[in-house]
Amino acid sequence: MYRTHTSGELRIAHNGTVVTLAGWVQTVRKFGAITFIDLRDRYGITQLVFAESLNEQLEKQPIGREFVLQATGTVRERTNKNANLATGDIEIAVSAFTILNRSAVPPFTIQDDTDGGDDLRMKYRFLDLRRPEVKRNLSLRYAVNRATRDYLHGQGFMDIETPFLIKSTPEGARDFVVPSRMNAGQFYALPQSPQTFKQLLMVSGYDRYYQIVRCFRDEDLRADRQPEFTQIDCEMSFVDQDDILRMFEGLVKHIFSTVKGVNYDEPVQRMRYDDALWLYGNDKPDIRFAMQLLNLKKPHHVLTDKQDSRGLIDGAGFVVFDNAETVLAIAVSGCADYTRKQLDELTEWVKRPQIGMQGLVYIRCNADGSYKSSVDKFYNEDKLKAIADAAGAKAGDLILILAGKEELTRKATSTLRLEMAERLGLRNPEHFKMLWVIDFPLFEFALEDMDGGGAGRWVARHHPFTSPKPDHIDIMINHGPTVDDPEKYLEHPYAGIKANAYDLVLNGNEIGGGSIRIYQRELQEKMFAALGLDAHEQQEKFGFLLGAFEYGAPPHGGLAFGFDRLCAILGGSESIRDFIAFPKNNAGRDVMLDAPGEIAEKQYRELHIKPA
Ligand code: ASP
Repeated sequence: MYRTHTSGELRIAHNGTVVTLAGWVQTVRKFGAITFIDLRDRYGITQLVFAESLNEQLEKQPIGREFVLQATGTVRERTNKNANLATGDIEIAVSAFTILNRSAVPPFTIQDDTDGGDDLRMKYRFLDLRRPEVKRNLSLRYAVNRATRDYLHGQGFMDIETPFLIKSTPEGARDFVVPSRMNAGQFYALPQSPQTFKQLLMVSGYDRYYQIVRCFRDEDLRADRQPEFTQIDCEMSFVDQDDILRMFEGLVKHIFSTVKGVNYDEPVQRMRYDDALWLYGNDKPDIRFAMQLLNLKKPHHVLTDKQDSRGLIDGAGFVVFDNAETVLAIAVSGCADYTRKQLDELTEWVKRPQIGMQGLVYIRCNADGSYKSSVDKFYNEDKLKAIADAAGAKAGDLILILAGKEELTRKATSTLRLEMAERLGLRNPEHFKMLWVIDFPLFEFALEDMDGGGAGRWVARHHPFTSPKPDHIDIMINHGPTVDDPEKYLEHPYAGIKANAYDLVLNGNEIGGGSIRIYQRELQEKMFAALGLDAHEQQEKFGFLLGAFEYGAPPHGGLAFGFDRLCAILGGSESIRDFIAFPKNNAGRDVMLDAPGEIAEKQYRELHIKPA
């Protein structure tokens, strides 16, 4: 037996017990004739004390950092207790030890505030994984995994594995492909998700399916993406949208309570996509705080309880507002006393290339009821008050206004809203707030070529298997996809078709998304045709699915959660890499393996491909 206990479990109650521990050497300290060693394993750290009688052996067999050590001794109460350590009340008076293995000097210190930079830690990820912080992250990941399985199992879901070597089908992103040795000149693709398999499982009658599964997308790695990532992938039969939303908000609530001890008992709000864009400027709003956008150029066509605010800025002769396509305002709580310097800094902030605005207009809603603005040459106090009232501002608030092209200004105001909330401490990572965004558009129109499929055509906003809202199906049946004038695509009937699709947003992050699916062959063919696939391509790429739809496909729907992201948010981190044992860097490389790498000439020949 290598050990009787772990390095995290001994307490004062073990006083006097003879124990054997095995682990890694965190530190070696000498005080006069006595040697102290902190021994670490997955469970914690325990202090070992080597008496003078062991000095001869210690001299012959010097112990260094990260050596693997086995030590036997008696648990005793420490005179100098360490309140920061779970085992800090005790130490082991060592009577015998064995070096189980030696270690080279590690390239960085194995502790939370390590001296190792990112690249070095990734190169030696097996050492990095010894650090308590990384261990906490992986433990949390495992806890989320278990909570997910427990909940879904309890609801009658079945975990069914689906293949990784599949056929390249257009699902949105670019496929990773794998050359086939046995089928010369042919290629498998790695799945972007098990989407079509889970739908086929519904046809087969496995009405509640799930999988915690790896997905592969060969995309340029924008911030914090991985080429292989994990989804909680789910599908159900005989359900409508409401059934699905309830089932899976239940899953996240279960994860909150088991993993975080958070009792999330409030109902999860549902918001239409149009409203999200209108009120928050994006489709994954952080609703832990209000600070809604006020549109000073267009009436709110979506919500009825909002007034038409156009008159508030019109006709004052302020050309910036008069000429802008969009003017958006937010009221920032309690910031009326921002100094000139702070306002200048904010103005520079919105002018940065990432934000791209020309300037920033402010209105101070002073505590004494007066108003002061950077544009009070054009707007008297009554007008400023009217804008402030429409924006929902109170005395003491600061109104910030951006003007410009519609989409740019919407994004900029949304980013500014998040920035101000951050500065005001309104984005506490331990405060969780979920939101369903529903009623997404079914199609997007690609004015430019987005995916190599050509410009001037409709693309699926979610994926090609998503069903239109029931009362929008007729629009698809009765109209072809051809757009005569791409500049006027918004006038085409397809632009107004809403999807039976939903996203789950947590604290401003999209953590999951899915849809009610198409399950009739005719509608699926119509959908493929709308996306530009002719009958031949449909048969070639999706013949298996269209065929299956002829054999009794039940109504069904589902969704998938980004498992890595969910873990990162629960762990209070911005980065999914921190929650993946062996992640890739931003160039898609595994720096530890040095992958991707070359292959031998022989392998090229076997695979019937030629070196580039
Ligand atoms: N397969 C979809 C995705 O990966 C999720 C779903 O619709 O279930 O985004």
